[in-house]
Amino acid sequence: MSTKTPITVAYGDGIGPEIMEATLRIIEAAGANIEIETIEIGEKVYLRGIETGMEPSAWESLERTRVFLKAPITTPQGGGYKSLNVTIRKALGLFANVRPCVAYHPYVYTKHPGMDVVIIRENEEDLYAGIEHRQTEQVYQCLKLITRPGSEKIIRYAFEYARVHNRKKVTCFVKDNIMKMTDGLFHKVFEEVAAEYPDIQNETWIVDIGAAKLADTPEQFDVIVMPNLYGDVLSDVAAQIAGSVGLAGSANIGSQAAMFEAIHGSAPRRAGQNVANPSGLLLGAVMMLVHIGQGDVATRVHNAWLKTIEDGIHTYDIYKEGVSQRKVGTREFADAVIERLGEVPQVLKPVSYQASQVIRVEPKTPARKQEKRLVGVDVFLDWDRGSPNDLGSALSRVSEGPLALRVISNRGVKVWPDGLPETFCTDHWRCRFMAQDGESVTPDQVVKLMGRVVEAGFEPIKSENLYLFDGVPGFSAIHG
Ligand code: NAD
Repeated sequence: MSTKTPITVAYGDGIGPEIMEATLRIIEAAGANIEIETIEIGEKVYLRGIETGMEPSAWESLERTRVFLKAPITTPQGGGYKSLNVTIRKALGLFANVRPCVAYHPYVYTKHPGMDVVIIRENEEDLYAGIEHRQTEQVYQCLKLITRPGSEKIIRYAFEYARVHNRKKVTCFVKDNIMKMTDGLFHKVFEEVAAEYPDIQNETWIVDIGAAKLADTPEQFDVIVMPNLYGDVLSDVAAQIAGSVGLAGSANIGSQAAMFEAIHGSAPRRAGQNVANPSGLLLGAVMMLVHIGQGDVATRVHNAWLKTIEDGIHTYDIYKEGVSQRKVGTREFADAVIERLGEVPQVLKPVSYQASQVIRVEPKTPARKQEKRLVGVDVFLDWDRGSPNDLGSALSRVSEGPLALRVISNRGVKVWPDGLPETFCTDHWRCRFMAQDGESVTPDQVVKLMGRVVEAGFEPIKSENLYLFDGVPGFSAIHG
């Protein structure tokens, strides 16, 4: 027998221990070749004063095995506790979140019987970098970071996933009609990567209408890839409208490590009663088996589970008079799946994973070096002592070399010169200083300009350099 794959397991809180016990019993009965290291995470650890919810010894196990099967945890009430999931994702570089959202019609109620969508969400960037600032009394800022390597990794992962799982189409959701640079980059990289996969269809939707279509006709979608925030929201929507939020599993994949879990929480009110549905965690474990190259075991488990659902053996959360045959508890459900190992569903579509189906992606070539030229600076001010015209005339007297005030905006809307009196202004102003006709300026001139702004009695709260990359502006135009 080949050597066992070590995996780290956490039983979690609430219903976690029961559904983990059921899940492990099923996959071991199916022949999973794994060696389990158990760690403690969650509520008890938080309450011992460890703000990440995880002991250092638990990290050692994860660093060793690099495969984590995690039951849900309870985050204690009150502030000061860090999200364990966010910590693990960042520490292990888990860039891809994969959530298959499948309808099990007619055995589980759904308005969308044909739904079979996989949401692939970028997991590390976007507004989740956690870079937030309060800049003035009135204004707070959260930085949205979209990077070329980050976008390329997740998009390439989506296409590789589609190829390996015989999916026909990858759809991209973005909002690049508004966020032309950040979402624009994601869209551009999508088109570049899509061109390398001519066997797979591709399309892009603006996220608002795309989300509406997903909620209305999800059967039109196959694999959908999106930046972090849209993916966070829409993967829950998709799981819910599949009719099976309690049935969905989730994989968090990195190039060096991966974590698998159910999408639901620890349901503390259901804990210890042998009623919880272990299916979400079990389907997470199926993805884990595929990830560690035991696709044959994953196939056996998944098909036996589908047959159990099809035979109407249901836990309370999906039990329905007239559709279900038998209402069972967590343990009995696991027994029913184990009894069906080796069987395939007759109505629901059977699955078939290859023995080894591991997806690995690395960004290909680093972006070519572009000519980067400094042409100006946006100076942000905290100021509440007058009208936009007062600010404009005071700052017009401040200049440095070719750098002179060209335009002022407030919340992105131009207010000087020729602003509209109706425009509402906060205490947060963006003052754009540039040379004429795209002439270059030096970093030294930018620094000196900041000094002159301070000498003139203003408080700069931050600045953003304005660059041209191969002659193309690396900054948004000011509307108004
Ligand atoms: P929840 O998902 O735990 O439960 C919501 C409801 O869904 C429950 O009352 C229960 O009726 C039902 N439910 C959920 N899973 C079920 C299952 N497997 N079988 C049967 N019924 C099930 O959401 P919540 O009540 O908002 O959160 C409870 C705790 O879980 C909180 O502390 C929250 O922070 C935590 N949480 C953890 C994770 C995670 O560890 N990944 C995710 C979400 C929430």
